[in-house]
This record gives sequence, structure tokens and C-alpha cells, in this order.
Amino acid sequence: MRKLWEKLKKEDHFSQPSGGRRHPNESMLRLTYVVVAVFVGMILYEGWFLAVRREDTINNSYNARLDSFAERVVRGRIVSGDGTVLAETVVGEDGSEIRRYPFGPLFSHVVGYSSMGRTGLEDLAHFYLLSSHVNLIEHTLRELMGEKNMGDTVVTTLDPVLQQTAYDALGDRRGAVVVLEPDTGRVLVMVSKPGFDPNTVAGEWDSLVSADNTSGQLLNRAAQGLYPPGSTFKTVMLLEYIREHPEDYGDFRFDCDGCYEDGEYAIRCYHGNAHGTQTLEEAFANSCNGAFAYLGKQLDAGKLAATAKELLFNSDIPISLPYSRSAYMMGEDADLWERLQTSIGQGRTQISPLHNALLAAAIANGGTLMKPYFIDHIENAGGDRIRGFLPSAYGSLMTAEEAAVLTGMMEKVVAGGTASAVKSDLYTAAAKTGSAEFEAGRETHAWMIGFAPAENPRLAVSVIVEEGGSGGSAAAPIARKIFDAYFSR
Ligand SMILES: [Zn+2]
Repeated sequence: MRKLWEKLKKEDHFSQPSGGRRHPNESMLRLTYVVVAVFVGMILYEGWFLAVRREDTINNSYNARLDSFAERVVRGRIVSGDGTVLAETVVGEDGSEIRRYPFGPLFSHVVGYSSMGRTGLEDLAHFYLLSSHVNLIEHTLRELMGEKNMGDTVVTTLDPVLQQTAYDALGDRRGAVVVLEPDTGRVLVMVSKPGFDPNTVAGEWDSLVSADNTSGQLLNRAAQGLYPPGSTFKTVMLLEYIREHPEDYGDFRFDCDGCYEDGEYAIRCYHGNAHGTQTLEEAFANSCNGAFAYLGKQLDAGKLAATAKELLFNSDIPISLPYSRSAYMMGEDADLWERLQTSIGQGRTQISPLHNALLAAAIANGGTLMKPYFIDHIENAGGDRIRGFLPSAYGSLMTAEEAAVLTGMMEKVVAGGTASAVKSDLYTAAAKTGSAEFEAGRETHAWMIGFAPAENPRLAVSVIVEEGGSGGSAAAPIARKIFDAYFSR
């Protein structure tokens, strides 16, 4: 720089013109000003483009204009909070671009893919990934040279270690796992099996969508799968019973001989177990079907439906990924069979694993549901923070007192009931298991919802193993591995 300056001085580019004579270099200086002005103008235009047109595009995120961004920007990376790359675009020497997913099927549904349409975070964060906030001068220079700028990085809330733990624990079985922080709504885990490899999804597309393929690999079971809730629905029944019997729910008693008979109908406890005399707490901990069928028959069907609605059945749930709405179908004129079945989470009631996770999270968070979210913040390619996302409350699903009673009852499920698989010296857990029948002659779907530590919850989980058998023996051990991995850090 110094040498250049000396050279310019020697060549008299910057000496003052003498007298009234026009200096021969004056025209050259004027030219320099013009070039600088044009350059500044381009920077200003670029700034305007980024600030104004981008805003325009936010409001039309499916506008074709957004896809034209792909001609100017290399799609950004999707990473976890610890910097683990979940998706990135590799640019070849010839300028060709390949989207890479280093973990293959591990994040297949939640991170998604961006070929053959877009799913998961690839779709949710499409706009950010095609926006580039590299510094303005670098940005403009690259555009002038016809080079692409690097898109922004989407930093997710996902926890790769817990995701891997849940994925491995499910093994070869079909099912789903959702883990989130009850007090923030940050989603740490979303696993759905079977999955697919997003690196090769385009090549395998025909077989993935073929009518012969009945495995539903592309379906995000966590959010889009609907299952009978089985005994996890006893949390809803319990809440309603407490609401209708605030003073005397402690007096509830039921004598279980393994099969509750009512008129022509019989409701059996799991494997015909006779639970003996049950308090409400014991019936919940042991998941006594007879007790809950008997209890459900006494409830006000209209109020039960209203409670189900408050708990987001038949409702939209606050999530930005595609999901299926859970269903609660029992009307006030329901016959005895439907009333008995609905009381134990069978019949026509259906729920997604994600919705069940949100119910556990709301109980864990004193009744307040935090909106689940997946994106922590956006960075430019250089790692500078561009925009952050904060937790926000959806609303209250139940009172703090009701949440406290449910938590106490769910702790007993772990301490001496069907979720003893999550009993640990490292933490206290609260849970409810379920073994949901869905077709005569087939093994039940195994459920567990819960949270830990019970007194100050940091994690809420929902696990389903399709045709896994009992919730206590198939789903709870998966939750156990997730809790252990998290609390032994
Ligand atoms: Zn029983």
C-alpha cells in the first residue's frame, strides 16, 4: 500500500494544478469519481434489494421469485446448536451443486430434503437458506463477477446425540419419538421410522411412492401419524375426573378382578391382570382399564369433550411442519360401548406422537403449553448472528394446580407402576404408558409419554413403537435411554 502511494505521488497524480491551467489528470480524476459513484450506486441498490425486495419475498414465500434466488445464492447449511452439519451444499469445480446430508436417514423427516419438492426444515427454512447476509461489499463484488453468494446458515434446536439415541433405541421397529423442552418448546428430537436417505431420495423416488411400498417411509409419523392413544389417554380422563370431583377424587375406589363387565360388554386389564382394590392414583399407576371404564361412565360426556378440545383434540396445534389433527369423536349421545372404549383411549380417538408430547410438556410446564419450534437462530455464512427466535407461550391447557396433581400421579406410574423402566437414581421421572389395540389379533402399539426431572422438568418425551406390545416394556426403555443420555452429560 505504502509503495503504491509513493508511486502515485512520484507520478504526480495528486499534485495541485498550478495557476488557471487545467491539469492533464483532471479528466482521469473525474472518471475515477464516476466509477466510484457507479460502484456506490450498486452497493446501495444491493442494499435496497436485500432490505426491500427480501421483505417483499417473505410475504410471498412460495413466489417463484424465491426460487430465482437459487440462481444467485448457494443454498445455506442446516446445523445443530453445536455446529454439527445436518445439510449442506457442496459446489463442484464446474459449479455443480449437490445437497449433502451427512447423517443419511437419521434426520430424514425433520430436516427433510430439497429435491423432489421440499419437506421438513428444508421447506420451513427455505427462505433463510436462500438469503445471503455475507457483508455487502463482498456480496456485491461476487454478484458483479457473476459468482453466487453463500446462503445463510439455519441453526436448529435439534440435539444430534439425543436424536441418535432415540433412533438407535427404536432399532428396526416402526414408530416415532419426539423430545422437547417443556419450558421453552425447543424441539430436540424428532425421529420417525422407517426413514429414507435424503441423499438418494430423488433416485429412489419411484419406489418410495410406489403403491407396492406399504412402509410409509416418507410419512413423518411423529407429526402426521395418528394412533389410538390407548392408556396415555387416561391422563385426559384423570384430568376430567379431577375437574368433576375436585374435593373427593381421593375417595375413588374400584375392585379389579381383571375384567370389568357392564351389560353385555367386558373391558379387560392388560393380559387379564387382576389389580384388586384400586384408588384413583393406583388405578392410574397400574393402568387399570376396568377402573377407568367404570370412572369414564360417570363423567359428563359434554364436559369431557370440552376438556379434550382444550387439550387440542380436533384442533390445530401450533407447529410449522405438516401434521395431522388428533381426533376426539365421542358425542353426548354415545352408546355404552363407545363410552367404555373412549375411557381407555380406544374407540375412535386418535392422536399424533407430537400432540402427545405437547400434552406431556404442558403438564410438565405447570399447564402452559409453549409453542414447539425448530430454528434457534440464523447466521450468515461467516457465523455472524442475523436473527434469533425466542420461546413463546401458546396458552394454558389446564391450571397449575391440575398440572401438579397430574404430575404427582405420573410420578407414581414411574415409582411403582407400569413405567418403572424409567425409574433412575439420576433423576425423577413422571410418565404414563399405553398399549393401544388397533386391530384384532395384532400386537398392541406401545406408548409412553413423560418428563424429567419431575420437580423441575427439562425434557418431555413421547414414544410410540408400532406393534411393540406393552408401553412399559417396549416404549419406556426408549425414553429411559434418552433421559439417561441427557442427564448423564
Ligand atoms: Zn385392573
